[in-house]
Amino acid sequence: GVCVVGSINVDEIVVVPRHPLPGETLLATSSTVAPGGKGANQAVAAARLGARVGMIGAVGDDGRARTALSLLAGAGVDLTDVVPVDGPTGIARITVDDVGENTIIVVPGANARVDDALVAARSASIARAAVVVLQGEIPVDASACAARLATGRVLLNLAPVIGVPGDLLQAADPLVVNEHEARLLLADVAGRTDPDADDGRIAVLLQEQGARSVVLTLGARGALCVDDDGVTTIASPRVDAVDTSGAGDAFVGALAMRLADGDELRTAVRFAVRVGAFAVGSAGTQPSYPWAGDELPSAAA
Ligand code: ADP
Repeated sequence: GVCVVGSINVDEIVVVPRHPLPGETLLATSSTVAPGGKGANQAVAAARLGARVGMIGAVGDDGRARTALSLLAGAGVDLTDVVPVDGPTGIARITVDDVGENTIIVVPGANARVDDALVAARSASIARAAVVVLQGEIPVDASACAARLATGRVLLNLAPVIGVPGDLLQAADPLVVNEHEARLLLADVAGRTDPDADDGRIAVLLQEQGARSVVLTLGARGALCVDDDGVTTIASPRVDAVDTSGAGDAFVGALAMRLADGDELRTAVRFAVRVGAFAVGSAGTQPSYPWAGDELPSAAA
């Protein structure tokens, strides 16, 4: 199965006619509250597609915890290793204006309490997973610890980009990043800013930093993967995009599910771009993810 070690949040989304200035009060035109956090999103995506998924993480002792876990439970994710801690559940306060520009404030809350001790105490869950999925929204020591305990494949989605120790990057098979994250990461770990580098070159440069394989997601254009067999570009199906939020997490969840089933990387990526494309076709993050029986958009020609 799949073990996701990562963040669990509640997304509090408000829509405003324009962003407020410092000191200003504005009325929102609408607001929604929904479960989120990259770890939770990816766990929901993999479980809905039929993977056996366990989640390691933490929620607070507030009313938000229930909201945060609602769709994880609905997808059948094993929540035995989700630890209740004192204080608030993680919150992402997302403000969206008329033209779709957003600002986001994240309160890590319980996610900041996911440390190496919490992870090490759940070593059995990590060791029995075929794929361990990690992101950048919990303390990096916890992710590094999970990577050391893994006996299966480690999928490292470095979103957001955080500083990682060399052994964590070297465990990544694959490292998954979007284009924006890829450029940030190259600047961070390799001290390179190469504005003219094309996508394939960027992915190869990232692999040279130590990752065993690299997947670069390219939005509507699809994705590109680099492993020992070289560079493969995979187009995304064309769809009418309604809401692209959480597409990357749908992609990662689908990729983890297929890798756990034993697919080769490029085969798994061919499936994951279709799941990402499905997710942009409807509103919301977790609610937009497909179930095993849903018809996915066909692969691009
Ligand atoms: P992120 O959400 O992290 O920014 P991307 O934007 O690269 O990640 O999207 C992840 C995947 O979702 C892509 O590889 C692609 O399969 C799919 N996707 C995203 N946006 C679109 C789109 N406009 N049309 C079709 N597929 C999309």
